[in-house]
Amino acid sequence: MQYPALIMDKNKVKHNTKVLSELASKHGVKVAGVTKVACAWPELAEAMIQGGAYALADSRIENLIKLKNFSVPKILLRIPMLTQAADVVEYADISLNSEIEVIKALNEAAKAKGKVHQIILMVDLGDLREGVWFVNAVAFAGEIIKLENIKLMGLGTNLTCYGGVIPSIENLGTLVKIAEEIEVKYGIKLEIISGGNSSSIHLLQKSQMPGKVNQIRLGEAIVLGTESAYGERIEDTYSDAFTLAAEIVELKEKPSAPIGEIGMDAFGGKPVFVDKGIIKRAIAAVGRQDVKHEGLTPRDKGISILGASSDHMILDVTNAEAGYKVGDIVEFDVNYGALLAAATSEYVNKIVK
Ligand SMILES: *Cc1c(COP(=O)(O)O)cnc(C)c1O
Repeated sequence: MQYPALIMDKNKVKHNTKVLSELASKHGVKVAGVTKVACAWPELAEAMIQGGAYALADSRIENLIKLKNFSVPKILLRIPMLTQAADVVEYADISLNSEIEVIKALNEAAKAKGKVHQIILMVDLGDLREGVWFVNAVAFAGEIIKLENIKLMGLGTNLTCYGGVIPSIENLGTLVKIAEEIEVKYGIKLEIISGGNSSSIHLLQKSQMPGKVNQIRLGEAIVLGTESAYGERIEDTYSDAFTLAAEIVELKEKPSAPIGEIGMDAFGGKPVFVDKGIIKRAIAAVGRQDVKHEGLTPRDKGISILGASSDHMILDVTNAEAGYKVGDIVEFDVNYGALLAAATSEYVNKIVK
């Protein structure tokens, strides 16, 4: 085994997906499994499908290419780049969109390939990331339906991503009202009303999801078992499906505060120290090139993370539950940011168990 390692427990991911798919399905909602936090790791996609996700979604074309052999619908989450129109049409069955120039380019690319490309129009309900401003959505839909090689599959929204706005009966109700207006005005049927991400789970739990919402795009909830509106743990899910493991390369008793005049650390910050006397310090061979150490929680409750530079993480193991020696492995829970960093780092060995 090579360290540092990011270890995924496939059965735990599958279980989490199953719990969430069942909760969603009780309210007529289907789950699209979002793979971007772990670079569309094929085993992650597989576990999501086995757990009940009906589609896979990712923000990057490069990741959808990795998923091309999965037969389920594939959704491109980030608004496409104009320069990627041909690839979007090739590798995504559905893309989320908000710019008419881009949608026209997708139309041309689809025409050239003899395809019809499906899109979900993103509506900004106030979170101020992507989407047409909600007031303009009905008119905008009228422009999309003129395009022959584009099918307007439905509407979607993204909340609690930039502005921190929490999904509610009111804002998702507005999305549903816009959808109904579009259906009546243009005489079309919208197949998908996509009600957000892991921050919309509380509406399913409280049975408050507006009836017409029939899809939800879940990443964090599946991989970490947390909802992202209030940061609550989701009942009957695992929070430890992913583990970061690192090897101890130095273990010594040393002072807790440095000796000498204090200048800057390796990242230009001025470090501050609490003097706790002599402590037992471990160096784990993992650093900022591998992970975001602020997003790690040691599984051994007696360990605390003192800091990290590019390649070294300093741990206080004075009160550790286990007796460590050089060469031992320490394990950590990851938060979303730490998982994203570890999954994208080429120095981290990716393991499935
Ligand atoms: C990342 C992303 C999601 C998934 O978000 P989670 O909070 O991880 O569930 C859903 N929709 C879009 C547009 C995204 O970019």
